[in-house]
Formats: sequence, C-alpha cells, structure tokens
Amino acid sequence: MSKYWSKLTASLVPYVPGEQPKDRSYIKLNTNENPYPPSPKVIEAIQAAANEDLRLYPDPTCDELVETLADYFGYPKDRIFVGNGSDEILAFAFPAFYSADKRILFPDVTYTFYPVYANLYGLKYETVPTDERFRIQASDYCVPNGGIVLPNPNAPTARYMLVDQLKVILEANKDQVVIVDEAYIDFGGQSAVPFVAEYPNLLVVQTLSKSRSLAGLRVGMAVGHPDLIEGLNRIKNSFNSYTLDRLALAGAVAAIKDRKYFEETNRKVVATRTRTVEALNELGFRTIESEANFIFTTHPERSAEELFLSLKGKGILVRYFNKPRIDQYLRVSIGTDDEMRQFLEVLRDIVDNA
Ligand code: PMP
Repeated sequence: MSKYWSKLTASLVPYVPGEQPKDRSYIKLNTNENPYPPSPKVIEAIQAAANEDLRLYPDPTCDELVETLADYFGYPKDRIFVGNGSDEILAFAFPAFYSADKRILFPDVTYTFYPVYANLYGLKYETVPTDERFRIQASDYCVPNGGIVLPNPNAPTARYMLVDQLKVILEANKDQVVIVDEAYIDFGGQSAVPFVAEYPNLLVVQTLSKSRSLAGLRVGMAVGHPDLIEGLNRIKNSFNSYTLDRLALAGAVAAIKDRKYFEETNRKVVATRTRTVEALNELGFRTIESEANFIFTTHPERSAEELFLSLKGKGILVRYFNKPRIDQYLRVSIGTDDEMRQFLEVLRDIVDNA
C-alpha cells in the first residue's frame, strides 16, 4: 500500500499468473501451453519480418491478419478483431459492453481474470453455481443480468458446454452481450463462431496461445457483429499505442494459414489426453470430462496440495488452486507422450507410497 496509489489501485486484487520457473528445469504441465513447437512456417515468417523494417510502426488496423482470419472463419472483415492475446480482448470487452448498474454473470468456478477485470472497471458481478461435476445450467443464465461471460471449455475445469445450451442462453439474453471465451475450443469442442451470423449479442474470443503453440507471441482474436467489433475498436483506440507488433502479425498470419500442422498437433494432444485420463483412472483418480488441452482431476484419498508439492519436488509442475470447491483438484496440462509417461510414473510412485 502506498500513499501515492489511487483508491482504485488500492482496491485491486490482481490475477496471479501460473509459475514460469527460471531456477531449474521442470516438466512443465502448469499453464496449459502446447507441448509442441509452433509451425516451422511461423518461425520463417517471424524471421522474415525481423529482417524487414522494424524501424516502422506496425499496421494499426492489422489488415493482413484480419483478412486471413475473415477467410478462416468465413465472415467479412468487419466481424473480426485482433488483440495481444485473448486477455487483452477480454480487457477491452468488459468496459466496451458492460455497465456498472447491472450485474455480469459468470460461473462460480472459472477463469480468475473475469472478476479481476470486473473490479478494475468497477463492474458488479454474480457467480452462478455449477453442479458437482462443474456443469453449467443454461436456465441459470436466463435471468435479468447485465451481460454474461462463459468460457467454453471452462478453465480450470476443462468442462465443455454443448452449443445447444449456449443457444438457449443467447436467445434469452438478446439485450446483453454474451462473451464466449473459446481459448481451448480446438481440442474437441464445437465453436460458437457460426452463431455470430444469427446473434448480434454474441462475441466469440479465441487465441493462438494454445492450439497454435504461440503463447509467447500474444495473439488473440474475436468474432462478432460489426457493432461489437466497433465497440472493441473504440476502447482499443482510446489507449495510445495498442496494436500487435510486426513479428506477431507475421507469425499469426502464417499460423492460421498452416492448417495441416495445426490439425496434426491437436490430434496428438487429444490422443495423449485420452491415454492420460485412462491411466489416471487406473490410479484411482476421478477426472472431469475434458475437451481442452488440460485435465482437472482429483484423488478421493490423497490431498491435492500434497500431490502438487510431491510432484514439484520431483521436477513436475502442475497447477494447484487453494480455493473453496476446487482445492481437492489438480489441473494438469497435456504434455508430450514422453512427458505424460514421466508424470504418471512419478505420480504412481507418490500415490502408492503415500
Ligand atoms: N481465457 C481462458 C479461459 C484462459 O485460460 C486463458 C489462458 N490463461 C486466456 C483466456 C488467455 O489466453 P491468452 O491471453 O494467452 O490468449
């Protein structure tokens, strides 16, 4: 606390990112990164862009990337927005579409950035209970509200909501913006992007961080009605210099265009996820159905915190949340087959000898 802080600064409880250790090397299964490198075409494109004129500012309207995404999603350019990671797009979307007088709704167990943004912008929110298996009920969102944010699949639970349920929510909330955060949609779920044509109240947000292995490049995208995109641009252009840099723009275009590499990588991650869940079940774990590149798992007799600490001691980093309802779960990102084999071996040892 400093006497120089504004009331707002003093009131904030910022998001705590997952550990990015520098002191030793771990098998890193704690922040849902993709275990495979980005497409070689992405690296080539970034190198070529670095050899061009970095002296010049990047394109403020990101035209080439927006066109590439318009083509990919099958929508006109005025329905596409890009940002520095989907986090930045969410940070723009909260003040663009939500007001302090009505409560925003999101699930009780969800991405911890949502309450952080709500607090930052002085917005009220209400968390809607999920059931014992972390499922959401569409009818819970068909009540008066000032907007809805739904991650699909959810994080950290990996729970996927069927798009039929989403349609019910969109129908019942035509006067509010429903943000669907699809950071993990490419690992088995069905995207809500096709509904954008029908629902002017829907904004779908995606990222290159997970399924395109580009968490380090910071590129996210949103698809929505042109009025929503204009709203995002109004917020973006009210900050001075926010746009994607030249290297990110070049890499992102190449990543979207290389569909073959993307599909192959995702297939590998999904196959490893299936094998990992089976192996965990054999060890006595109960795992929430996952359509993401991570799993949420619990052991009926072992403390999740102790498992987390024992794994860490043996060089394997997973995520543990010391929070009500989820403090008996571990969130484990899907690594390569070899990483998951080592993870399971160490875990078996810990569980058997506890
Ligand atoms: N939404 C969800 C649900 C996430 O888990 C994450 C990753 N932490 C993000 C958005 C942000 O991803 P990025 O900013 O890397 O695009």
